[in-house]
Amino acid sequence: MAAKKIVLVVCDGLSDRPVKELDSKTPLQAARKPAMDALARHGMSGMMDVIGPGIIPGSDTAHLALFGYDPFKVYTGRGPIEAAGAGIPLERGDVAFRCNFGTVDDGFNVVDRRAGRIKAGTDELARAVSGMKIGDVTVLFKEGSEHRAVLVLRGKGLDHRVSDVDPHIEGKVLEAKPLAPEAAKTARALNEFVRRAVEILASHPLNAQRSKEGLRPANVILPRGAGSTRDLEPLSERYGIRCGAVAGVTLVKGICRMVGMEVPDIVGATGGLDTDYKAKADTALRLLDKKDFVFVNVKAGDVAGHDGDFRTKMRVIENIDMMLGLMLKDLHEDVVVALTCDHSTPVAVRDHSADPVPIAISGGGARVDGIKEFDEVSAASGALGRIAGMQLMPIMLGMADRARKFGA
Ligand code: ZN
Ligand code: ZN
Repeated sequence: MAAKKIVLVVCDGLSDRPVKELDSKTPLQAARKPAMDALARHGMSGMMDVIGPGIIPGSDTAHLALFGYDPFKVYTGRGPIEAAGAGIPLERGDVAFRCNFGTVDDGFNVVDRRAGRIKAGTDELARAVSGMKIGDVTVLFKEGSEHRAVLVLRGKGLDHRVSDVDPHIEGKVLEAKPLAPEAAKTARALNEFVRRAVEILASHPLNAQRSKEGLRPANVILPRGAGSTRDLEPLSERYGIRCGAVAGVTLVKGICRMVGMEVPDIVGATGGLDTDYKAKADTALRLLDKKDFVFVNVKAGDVAGHDGDFRTKMRVIENIDMMLGLMLKDLHEDVVVALTCDHSTPVAVRDHSADPVPIAISGGGARVDGIKEFDEVSAASGALGRIAGMQLMPIMLGMADRARKFGA
């Protein structure tokens, strides 16, 4: 059999619980969504514990599981994801940190962890410290939004098990300590970076200007949340597939880049409620021309869930349905299409919950199980049964005739 292509659409946080105002239906049960229902009708449905029963997924750990990685093994913190999201291409073995630009006094005490919520010029400051060499360790540093930034240490024998430099409150800048013997070199390099960065930032013209204007200088960098990419084998190596992703929100883009997907920046894909659904559909179809696997994330359902707003969630469902309809119209019937969520974000909870999410898969070798609607209750009677998030990639690869035989 010729290998087929795969499309995975993840509706972030769309899955929900019964809503009183909707006659105790979930928003998915109550909304009009012809494309989602068609997908369920032409394929097979089931329920998924994205990480495991009773475990509330973060969007980051959930996506790692959906791509087939064990988050308990490979998730070491937000640092690498933020770095990849900020556009630093990570290599295996890099150690990455989230950072703040802050303000210290002469005694190395943090007087402001956000440097007066600095808005402009952090790109200049970042360029002044990026590229620094500390022994055989190379420093990559990039500004984020406002006072935020990311730091990547690249070199041999680095280990992410180091404590934070950021004191998280006003007070003395902390010395990074190795939390395992293997991390001694990383802690030394990190402390040296912080020390040298203070020298460079103190004499930077931007800070002289800020001081003149009565603004707090951004004269210290406070790294925290070290994480490593050591155990992340790219999807291309793992499954032999070329991968692309359509996502608006930085955290999800970061994960996609970390696992080796091509993630184009799409004008209008904001990760918010105002995202451009048509642009997302177009980009996904275009990517699929040159890729084997295309992943699409739509964040808006999660936003509506956190806002506790079921009406907005219903609108999001209709918008995603329109996007899916545009995609299905142009997709060859051989393409394996999976539709699911990375976790539930019930409007009643206003946060993520451990409730399993519905999944529907059509195309390729997917069987047709008679389920006619895509929602949390209908899907539970489907032929896929109840699966774990980490099983999704192998299941889709099997339906796309990309699985490998075990034995004779
Ligand atoms: Zn999420
Ligand atoms: Zn969320």
